Amino acid sequence: MSEDERIREIYRRVSAAAEHWPTTTLDHYRGQPFKALIAGMLSAQTREEQTLQAAETLFALADNPADMLKLSDEQILAAVRPVTYYQNKARFVRDICQRLVAVDGGVVPRDLDQLVQYRGVGWKVAVLTRQVAFDIHDDITVDVHVNRISKRLGMVRADTKQPEKINEELKQVMPREFWPRWNSLMVQFGREVCKPTYPQCATCFLFELCPRIGVVQTGPRTYKNADYA
Ligand code: SF4
Repeated sequence: MSEDERIREIYRRVSAAAEHWPTTTLDHYRGQPFKALIAGMLSAQTREEQTLQAAETLFALADNPADMLKLSDEQILAAVRPVTYYQNKARFVRDICQRLVAVDGGVVPRDLDQLVQYRGVGWKVAVLTRQVAFDIHDDITVDVHVNRISKRLGMVRADTKQPEKINEELKQVMPREFWPRWNSLMVQFGREVCKPTYPQCATCFLFELCPRIGVVQTGPRTYKNADYA
């Protein structure tokens, strides 16, 4: 089997399995730029349930930048409390809304360079926002799941650290039509099968396709991330 065939088969199997798994948080905001941007910022280093809880509470109070600026600091803080670094992120909510109104006429920009000008919006959140809000897929969103699983599968060098570089390595080996869904598939697959500390290799449907880079076998049917072994 060629490398291209291996990657296509991995994609096919994960896509088929994902039809039975819950969707990812940001899927709730497809085609809704303001919500995608705010929820994307809130999602950094935060579990999906907490992100969704905070985002939905916030959007119930206000669903556009002008209305959100009318909320008090206390209201924003209380809404986003479930997410990590909620105090910083509450400030980012206001900063983002202010910039949206003052600089971009209340309209979320589509351009990556413009998006990263917003406080709390790094490269990863900007790529994610473009994908969710505008269906733009020039890059692959690299989060902890994409980072971990792409390396285990041998699609990215194990010592590549920066998300932008992981994105470039992935784009070199993966057909373009796979870029849009790779992040959400890896989030789902990472939750269900290829878990951070204890990947379910013994029952994984990718077993014979996977070199399991960085994974060690600790028993007849048990595997562990080598960093935690
Ligand atoms: S075989 Fe193990 S390391 Fe490879 S994709 Fe499956 S769970 Fe992850």
